[in-house]
Amino acid sequence: MSLDLVLFGGTGDLAWRKLMPALFQAFRHGSLPDNTRIIGVARDDLSDQQYRALMRGRLDQVDLAKRPSPQEFDRFAALLHFLRMDLSKPDDFRRLAGMLRQQQADSVVMYLATAPSLFTAACEQLAAAGLNTPNTRVVLEKPLGSDLASNRAINETVRKVLRENQIFRIDHYLGKPSVQNLFALRFGNALFEPLWRRETIANIQITIAEDFGVEKRGAFYDNTGALRDMVQNHALQLVCALAMEPPINAHADAIRDEKLKVLRSLKPWTGEDIGQHVVRGQYAAGIVGGEAVPGYRDEAGVNPQSTTETFVALRAEIANWRWAGVPFYIRTGKRLAARDARIVINFRPAPHAIFRSPNGDANRLVIHLQPKDGLELHLLAQGQENRQQAKTLAPALTPVHLDLDFDKRFGSERVGAYERLLLDVIDGRLNLFVRSDEQEEAWRWVEPVMDHWRQDPSGPRPYAAGTWGPSAASAMIARDGHCWSEEC
Ligand code: NAP
Repeated sequence: MSLDLVLFGGTGDLAWRKLMPALFQAFRHGSLPDNTRIIGVARDDLSDQQYRALMRGRLDQVDLAKRPSPQEFDRFAALLHFLRMDLSKPDDFRRLAGMLRQQQADSVVMYLATAPSLFTAACEQLAAAGLNTPNTRVVLEKPLGSDLASNRAINETVRKVLRENQIFRIDHYLGKPSVQNLFALRFGNALFEPLWRRETIANIQITIAEDFGVEKRGAFYDNTGALRDMVQNHALQLVCALAMEPPINAHADAIRDEKLKVLRSLKPWTGEDIGQHVVRGQYAAGIVGGEAVPGYRDEAGVNPQSTTETFVALRAEIANWRWAGVPFYIRTGKRLAARDARIVINFRPAPHAIFRSPNGDANRLVIHLQPKDGLELHLLAQGQENRQQAKTLAPALTPVHLDLDFDKRFGSERVGAYERLLLDVIDGRLNLFVRSDEQEEAWRWVEPVMDHWRQDPSGPRPYAAGTWGPSAASAMIARDGHCWSEEC
């Protein structure tokens, strides 16, 4: 078996931070085919040797356990090549075709780790150069477009030259072991299924919090914002995994069909809803981890008058029999109080109180996605009580947790998200990739919010870096009689 993996954007941030370390791990674990070439592509004029030296610099920075020894790197480096190429120049694709003809690989993966504005031209040029053979797979990074129209335009062009089963639209959240465990929890165990519905669940909270700011990606982020960067893709994919019906089997289309139904059931926005149920914020200067950090507008690459949101909290509803009336709260932002991605499922309290329980406490399932990977089940138990309390007829209950740490249980050496997804592309498995109709539905749902914000002069609410976002986010959830999990 032979593989040519062409990494367009091979010198960019994504390739540098995520893809090359993931490819090295795949190599180390013997998961790459014997005859593999990894061909980095960019407009820079680099030799193979210079590209290898660049990537060596990167791999020398990763965690010690994932760092190659000199001998290991030499073996990995033999797979690395570089091709100077401009995606807007047809002649350059002919040079790529010439290079690929040398090996006639069994499998060819084209990974477009470049700006989405280059996707359509790249796919058209790949076809014009005769590179869309049946053994070619194309990986498209998110965000795919910046609204419904641009997303459709990309999908339509791509589908003219490739079949759907050759297109791998990546949402790296789906590759995370913790998200796969969410599928396992729901569809590999019968325990929770009878409880997974409106009758027993009071609300669901999805938090994807980052404590860092825009880092070196200020210009990119300022044109994107939290709604496009996190909600339209990662957060809605989590909503799908939580709310979908059990698929009839584990095939890609069976799973995607069920996810699509969830996206189609999201209650559409009205102008009034958006004012009430969506909060946008932007971080101001503050303290994170004991250090003073600048506000968003003072970050490199950001417009000093920017109205781009770095925080969104919203209340979604799924209009179907299983979920009608259950709020799904989504919250994501940068420079928040902690780096913490988690899902909290708050169950309804027992219907009739015979115990004195702490005010408002009920059962809760917490699914930790990042940095911790695990499950916590919050129960109420009769714990320590003093003799005086023991005499009362209605004893008090104490919250206790069942705590399952997947990193401890399975070891932290599990296959990472990008490694897993790259291996799936190489093997042609589409389960963890997003179909075009899912993406279009997600854009259709968020677009009214984007339109509303464009016409709303009030702009995002400022919040101090190092906090949980604007207080309006707490007020929004409090109106339903609920609170964010760290508040209650
Ligand atoms: P980046 O750092 O700006 O890198 C862009 C890469 O594309 C560079 O290698 C650049 O090299 C190359 N490039 C630009 N124009 C080109 C052209 N006309 N022809 C050939 N190569 C060209 O961007 P990035 O952060 O890696 O992001 C890449 C994609 O991944 C984007 O769609 C982004 O939204 C997505 N993404 C990134 C991250 C992340 O953490 N960085 C996470 C999720 C998704 P030259 O300028 O030398 O040509």
